[in-house]
Amino acid sequence: MKFENSLEIARKMDSEDELAKYRHQFIFPQVNGKDVIYFVGNSLGLQPKTAKNYVNEIMQDWANLGVEGHFRAEKSWWDYHERFSGKLAKIVGAKASEVTVMNTLTVNLHLLMVSFYRPSGKRFKILCEEKAFPSDQYMLSSQVRLHGYQPSEAIVEVRKREGENNFRTEDILKKIEEVGEELALVLIGGVNYYSGQVFDMESITKAGHEAGAIVGWDLAHAAGNVKLKLSEWNVDFAAWCSYKYMNSGPGNASGCFINEKYHNIKDMPRMEGWWGHNKDRRFLMEPEFQPEPDANAWQISNAPVLALAPYLASLEMFDEVGMPALIKKRNRIVAYLEFVLHEIDKEVDSTFEVITPSNQNERGTQISVFLHGEGRELFNYLMKNGVYIDWREPNVIRLAPAPFYCSFEDVYNFGQILKRGITEIHS
Ligand SMILES: *Cc1c(COP(=O)(O)O)cnc(C)c1O
Repeated sequence: MKFENSLEIARKMDSEDELAKYRHQFIFPQVNGKDVIYFVGNSLGLQPKTAKNYVNEIMQDWANLGVEGHFRAEKSWWDYHERFSGKLAKIVGAKASEVTVMNTLTVNLHLLMVSFYRPSGKRFKILCEEKAFPSDQYMLSSQVRLHGYQPSEAIVEVRKREGENNFRTEDILKKIEEVGEELALVLIGGVNYYSGQVFDMESITKAGHEAGAIVGWDLAHAAGNVKLKLSEWNVDFAAWCSYKYMNSGPGNASGCFINEKYHNIKDMPRMEGWWGHNKDRRFLMEPEFQPEPDANAWQISNAPVLALAPYLASLEMFDEVGMPALIKKRNRIVAYLEFVLHEIDKEVDSTFEVITPSNQNERGTQISVFLHGEGRELFNYLMKNGVYIDWREPNVIRLAPAPFYCSFEDVYNFGQILKRGITEIHS
């Protein structure tokens, strides 16, 4: 079907959308008595209606069973985290044994750096993208200082070319080769949080390995959004948060991938705790640490099951739908959003510059738009009129029509509200 900026066509596309029914399984905030148009699933995904039941189940087990809930609850707490591995592995393209869930994202990146940033001799540099997500910058700087280096000498940033909005893969590969035997680690955000650009993780991982470096990925904006094949790409490690596209709830737990080639290595450098200990002997309280044979060896504390509960609820939905169906709808709804933006651009006295790559293979759900002409007042207008989007300095709005719960009608309505906003501001 050819795109048209009309309510009729938008509704027709919704009627053909196999995932349309899932919209009703989420709770939408309301503005002026109506569900908002929620384009901020890249920041905090909506609450699945089932989430509360999963939390209540644990509250009930705790009330009824007290400490016995660890073993006697229907979803026992002592191994609650193990319910995640298989389902998460499908989302990130890994073996279940390579995936676990624990802590939060930046904490996990720090913990994984303990294992995977092992500078020695002249190999001590870390390569990342310029203007990485601030938490990642702080994390990397503090890690190199911990090892006695100055960030200015140890951190190498790949830059975008003058006047361009996105990174070129060739520039990243060239930089990796240039740093060569001084390169200890490549650590980049798989999907850029600002522009929505998806990096060529396969080629970059390969190039990092050819230079003799370890390659890790921060998948905060990638998990549950784009196709990942961490095992096949031979990625060394990765971590992601779950509250963005994965709809697990504010500040919720992080997932980790640790390539199986690092399992069962004697004296693997690692921060250890009792939840990483051989689970059959965990409660024998023995003095010597015996690691689990898989990614769970990186577990430290007993699992925060109340937090994990809504994450598990969401994961069940991902498992039911599967990434291929989500990606199929994502491509269509994002293309429609881009189309509508261009249509509105023609109708109003304004210019939008989409800074996200137009190639489907280089973007996921997010479209970032540089506004030439309007500023925060347009953002404020949209928010007040029931469109939830986000704002990034200096003049960028980020729009993420998450395929799980956004509709084509949302996209059409967004265009109309956007047009009214611009017209009002200019009048
Ligand atoms: C969202 C995001 C984070 C957030 O880190 P937390 O530790 O979960 O607060 C980190 N890195 C990137 C790239 C992000 O997009």
